[in-house]
Order: sequence, then structure tokens, then C-alpha cells
Amino acid sequence: MKLSLDALLPPLGPRQELVLLARALLHEGYNDHLAGHITYKQSDETFLVNPWPLLWDEFSPDDVLVMNKLGEKISGHWQVPLGIPLHVALHQLRPEVVVSVHNHPLYATTYANAGRVPPPYDQSSALGGGTVVLVDEYTTAVDDVDAARAAASAMGSADMALLANHGVMVTGVSIRAAHQRAVALEQRCKHAWHVEAVGGGHPLPKDAQARSLLSDGDKFIGFWEAMARREIRRDPSILAGAVR
Ligand SMILES: [Zn+2]
Repeated sequence: MKLSLDALLPPLGPRQELVLLARALLHEGYNDHLAGHITYKQSDETFLVNPWPLLWDEFSPDDVLVMNKLGEKISGHWQVPLGIPLHVALHQLRPEVVVSVHNHPLYATTYANAGRVPPPYDQSSALGGGTVVLVDEYTTAVDDVDAARAAASAMGSADMALLANHGVMVTGVSIRAAHQRAVALEQRCKHAWHVEAVGGGHPLPKDAQARSLLSDGDKFIGFWEAMARREIRRDPSILAGAVR
């Protein structure tokens, strides 16, 4: 039986999707206080952005900002996050990226700080596919445009990056894809940390990884929708505000 999307999640406007993504990822470890930003490209080449200085479980659809491709605010009551040059540079270099997520989740940032990308040890760690690289870019302030360009350039065509001494960058062709990859990346690092603590084990076989890699994160219907429903149950007021 084919799943109906409407049966899984009520129709959402893009601002509501961004709010739900931030809330869902906060509960997956993307919760370093005021750190973190999400950009969501729209069909008119503007971007929806989370507002600074509001927490990821604090802002509503009405708080979401609109910015242009240079990172300049077009509308909204709050400020564009300081670290937005990294997203601006990435979207300039990678027109296929619709959603990009940056934050400092504990386990992924631990491996970023250690300077290595752990292998996926299980299926959950590889969901959403995509490639992960280490980017050693943290040489100056987060709002430095040249450093942002260097980091985005060093990421190449990778779908995700561990940013040494900093955090992560996750990309996707949709909110659904970015969510699944962001969840899987932190799980990958968390599970690897535990495997290494126990000792032994071996990475997920390449053919199993390849099956996960076939997915761009957007084709696994149900994962994002389930976690979004959980956020709506946790806070039924979460969707209040602008729908467009
Ligand atoms: Zn950061």
C-alpha cells in the first residue's frame, strides 16, 4: 500500500517546516545553546533562516527570517545569525543544496575535534546516505567571510562535513533529507564513540552502506514525518503563525 503524505503529516508551509526541523534536531543533539543555523532555499532564490538570538525550541513560524543570497535580511523582526557567511558561501558554490544545517552536536563535534570521520557501524548511522568529509577550517571568527568561503570550498561536493574544532555542516535537497542526514550523522558519531569505548567491532559492510547511499535522504518517507509529528504532539502550538 502506498503511503499518503497527508496521512503522515498535515500540509505545512516552509516556515512551519523550518520550525519543526529545528525543534526535531534540537532533540537529536543539535542543541549547543545559541549556536546553529538552518537555511532553506525557496523557489524565488530567497532563503528562510532561523532568527538570532532565539533558541531552536523557542522560535515560531512568525519569527523566521527571509534573507537574500548575500545573507542580507529582507524581512523579519530578528537578526540573521552571525555565522551565516558559511551558509551563504555554501549555497553559492552548491546550487543543488536546498537545506543546510550547522550546529555543534556533542558526538559529531567530538570527532571533528579529534580530526577524523568515524565509519558507520550500523544501519541507523548510514540512513540518508551522503558523503562525510573532515574540513579543517576553523582559523578565525565565525562571521569571517573569507574563512567561510574556504570552509565551503574545502567541503567540495560532500553532503556533510565535520568541521574541525567547530561542529558540523549537513546538506540536503529537502527538509526531509537534511533531517535524516543530520540525525544519522550524530548517531554515527555517537555509536562509533560507544563501539570504540567497548573495543572491537567492524564498520558496516560497504554493500550495506551503498544501499543507504542510494538514498538521498528524501526518498525514505515516514522518518521525518514521524519525528515532526512527535514535535507537534510535544507542543501543539508549534505550528501557530504564518503559513506560506
Ligand atoms: Zn558554529
